[in-house]
Amino acid sequence: MAKLVEPHGGKGLTCCLLEGAELEAEKKKAEGLKKVTISPRVKGDLIMMGIGGFSPLTGFMTKADWKGVCDDFLMADGTFWPIPVTLDAGGDEADAVSEGDEIALYDSEGDEIMATMKVTEKYAMTEDDKKFECEKVFMGEGTPTADEFWKIAKDDHPGVQMVMNQKDFNLAGPVKVLSEGEYPTRYKGIYVRPAESRKMFEERGWSDVAALQLRNPMHRSHEYLCKIAVEVCDGVYIHSLVGNLKPGDIPASVRVKCIDALVKNYFVEKNVIQGGYPLDMRYAGPREGLLHATFRQNYGCSKMIIGRDHAGVGDFYGMFEAQTIFDKIPKPEEPGKALLCEPLKIDWTFYCYKCDGMASLKTCPHAKEDRVLLSGTMLRKLLSEGGELPDHFGRDEVVEILRDYYEGLTDKVEIKLHGAATGDK
Ligand SMILES: [Zn+2]
Repeated sequence: MAKLVEPHGGKGLTCCLLEGAELEAEKKKAEGLKKVTISPRVKGDLIMMGIGGFSPLTGFMTKADWKGVCDDFLMADGTFWPIPVTLDAGGDEADAVSEGDEIALYDSEGDEIMATMKVTEKYAMTEDDKKFECEKVFMGEGTPTADEFWKIAKDDHPGVQMVMNQKDFNLAGPVKVLSEGEYPTRYKGIYVRPAESRKMFEERGWSDVAALQLRNPMHRSHEYLCKIAVEVCDGVYIHSLVGNLKPGDIPASVRVKCIDALVKNYFVEKNVIQGGYPLDMRYAGPREGLLHATFRQNYGCSKMIIGRDHAGVGDFYGMFEAQTIFDKIPKPEEPGKALLCEPLKIDWTFYCYKCDGMASLKTCPHAKEDRVLLSGTMLRKLLSEGGELPDHFGRDEVVEILRDYYEGLTDKVEIKLHGAATGDK
């Protein structure tokens, strides 16, 4: 029988989460260690290292790893990795830490001890270092020069803001993860670890599995992408982000309900599995598409669906840049070091009145006026303003769930439309 794709890195799933007596002993030890407070993004990264989602990573990156990933998509040992996974520290907390120390990592929100770490390297992150990281990771075809990029990135790119707001040092070293935070309880049934998704795929006899990345409610385009993947693979893993979003995004619980409704009413249920993962968005467009493929490989997926403006924000990236980047990345020959999860590249999709169904730029010969352009951003904007949706935008079952959600909201966030969402790009 054909097998699932191996986890990235060639070392199997590298899970840093402790269990049982080992966990209890480490928790006790952690209370006496120097404290470093971590950001929500770092917390997500830690949990991913805990459950093997970031295999082969078992700790935060050294300066050499960080530089190699920024410059060449390669860690110091030659393993492919697309986005820095670093731990920042500052102020008194950073001053107190020296190389060789063991430290305890505290969640900034819940004050829970998330992990312990052996500090193997402490390196400064100057303003210039952060700018370098931003230009490497976030600059795309939409903002091809550094001048253009910084003119809008400073205020309008949440990923850039996240990096520029990082503290002045990075700490590197192996981690022992002590908690998965709120995920196993708050997202019970949806929060699925890589070992578990692999088991589910195997039980269904799947070997070629495509992942659909979701952070917005599932609309007709997502449904279509998913169905194309079902036709050419053994099954599809609808994989939702359940980490932190930006204001105006729809909470995971609502999105999960929408997916349930869609799968129940419009799919052959045995060909689709739904799950969630604990990361924050980095809004890194093409590089994030690569990260999505990298950790999906660990979850057991051999294909990653990449449509228009994947993981984009504003107009920073070219519409299909997240597809073409897969052709440009290094492919190390040493076993395990190259990315194995391949992109399932799908053109811009929409509903077309003349085709009388879903179509893409590759299949539909008709004019712009004949098409209903679909985007998650536009869906959220129309619903949050209480407006009517064009026909064929979403399935009734999904739209009803979303309307209920918006009607219950007291604080409304204005949602900006950019080129990619309006079809003008
Ligand atoms: Zn058409």
